[in-house]
Amino acid sequence: MAKKQFKAESKRLLDLMINSVYTHKEIFLRELISNASDAIDKLYYKILTEKITGVSKKDFFVRLALDEDARTITISDNGIGMTKPELEENLGTIAKSGSLLFKSEEATEKAASKIDIIGQFGVGFYSAFMVSSRIRVVSKAYGEEQAWVWESDGADGYTIKESDKAEVGTEITLFVKEDTDEEKYGEFLSAWRVKSLVKRYSDYIRYPILMVAEKSRMIEPAEGAPEDAPPEYETYIEEETLNSMVPLWKRQRSKITEEEYAEFYKGKFSDFEDPLKVIHTGVEGVISYDALLFIPSRAPYGYYTKDFEKGLQLYSSNVMIMDKAADLLPDYFSFVKGVVDSQDLSLNISRELLQHDRQMKAIAQRLEKKIKSELETMLGTDRETYEKFWEAFGLQIKFGLYDGYGTAKEKIQDLVLYYSSSEKKLVTFGEYVSRMPEDQKYIYYATGESVEKIDKLPQTELLKDKGYEILYGADQVDEFALKMTREYEGKEFKSVSEGDLGLEESEEDKKKAEKKAEKYADVLAEIKKALGEKVTDVRLSKRLKSHPVVLVSEGGLSLEMEKILKQMPGAEKEHIKAERVLEINADHKVLKALGKIYESDKKKIAKYADILYAQALLMEGMQIDDPVAFCNAVCDLIEP
Ligand code: ADP
Repeated sequence: MAKKQFKAESKRLLDLMINSVYTHKEIFLRELISNASDAIDKLYYKILTEKITGVSKKDFFVRLALDEDARTITISDNGIGMTKPELEENLGTIAKSGSLLFKSEEATEKAASKIDIIGQFGVGFYSAFMVSSRIRVVSKAYGEEQAWVWESDGADGYTIKESDKAEVGTEITLFVKEDTDEEKYGEFLSAWRVKSLVKRYSDYIRYPILMVAEKSRMIEPAEGAPEDAPPEYETYIEEETLNSMVPLWKRQRSKITEEEYAEFYKGKFSDFEDPLKVIHTGVEGVISYDALLFIPSRAPYGYYTKDFEKGLQLYSSNVMIMDKAADLLPDYFSFVKGVVDSQDLSLNISRELLQHDRQMKAIAQRLEKKIKSELETMLGTDRETYEKFWEAFGLQIKFGLYDGYGTAKEKIQDLVLYYSSSEKKLVTFGEYVSRMPEDQKYIYYATGESVEKIDKLPQTELLKDKGYEILYGADQVDEFALKMTREYEGKEFKSVSEGDLGLEESEEDKKKAEKKAEKYADVLAEIKKALGEKVTDVRLSKRLKSHPVVLVSEGGLSLEMEKILKQMPGAEKEHIKAERVLEINADHKVLKALGKIYESDKKKIAKYADILYAQALLMEGMQIDDPVAFCNAVCDLIEP
């Protein structure tokens, strides 16, 4: 039978696994046991909801068997099993979210050098290839007549054939790699080693993990046998339950170690890294529940894509009823992983009903409050960890400000950090406002490609000079998020690129400015005429110190937004245009020069207007319409 090939991206991940230098190879056992337990959960749920009789929770198990001579480890379960298409789909493809990264060979090469990358996918079934030269999966799905055997040595693809397995469930046999000088794979064939791994990684699994051992015992001598006959022995199979089966979230918090939490998290949610934060909480009362939540240390691969599915695993009195209950988490906390167990939920509830369930809503509300308060505490007491959190998931919180037209802002605005021009680090809105000088009316912000680039924007010069702090936003969502947030503690947000910066001006300054504007009115009008449609106005600037010109915007759409909106797929580019105002520095020698040129040769103004406009565009990080014409115009100026 011809071998089937793995999908390209699966193959690459597989190669990473097979050649892995990852030191914690033992986690494969945790992954396979966790899969087995999930499969039992699924079947048990079916039995309960479909009211199938004759089966009880006690009938379920995960069984481990070791054979040192054959060098095999067998992990079997009597869970829901897999159909033929499921075997192909589940074991022939890696997590769909992973496929993106593996599109380019180059990315893979980079990835291969970094073991890190595996962690981003979650580990799963493939991790077994770290210790196996071949894997055989025999499975019979619940409700199916035919069982199937899937077999693969990793590199060369896999085969699927019919099998005569009689009972429903899955049996996975690992053919353990030969030992090498560096790696003693044989250790996983030792009962003692495997027992301690189960204790360490899988103790909480709620079904018995049985270890089969072949033992021998003396046979009672038969009646009438001679007294001095040598004793006879028989071998028998003994099964030992290796795990305590108490779900971690039901155990007393004070008795659980950090390590136990971390191992539970990694096992359950297939992460290589410890969680950044553990939140173990519960209430007794009108509604009772236990929740064990985790904030991962970094965003999983594909987190910021639409493929990402949020949700908490939902249990009703120890029975898993839903793998990803999305309604338990608001979008801005979608990064939280964990389990919720409540005896108040009905087993038979459907996804649709669950959404409207009063109990669910109450639990979701409380969890949200809890997550928020834990994050606030972290922000207040452990800034370093919080910044790590922010690095991973800050973007999601900022999306939260923007989503729903700012309806969530009261809830999350105090969790937000922005880089500060004066503090040179991340600050909260609260910290910003508490430092505002009395004469400062607005919370100023600037957006752009990177903190370094924003810091050089001419629009920030005057404000900095006045001692005002500016918040820098280098994410695309920033300007939208801050616009939606509108104000914090009564102080409005204002972009440094807005036409009017809302600065207080002395009467004297005002007069001076008016006079200057009058003096240059004709020059400005001529520039405006030359630029035509490109700008809505040309003015003298009050915000510039050293730069000659700057582009600012009027009306709702800013230049930064224009840039972002234009990049969106399907954007009608011609229609997206901020109202641009070209501002010229009133104290710059360029203005004086323009005045003189206007006097001597009015026609020349057009050329200079184009150059200055192009300069302003470039400084904004925007494209100029005709780079060749711009270069020619600049060259024309270079004269001996
Ligand atoms: P994950 O468990 O993160 O989804 P895996 O690669 O470990 O990823 O497993 C892929 C899928 O294969 C599982 O989601 C499940 O549907 C199926 N699967 C794995 N092991 C078993 C098993 N023992 N019984 C039934 N289905 C299984």
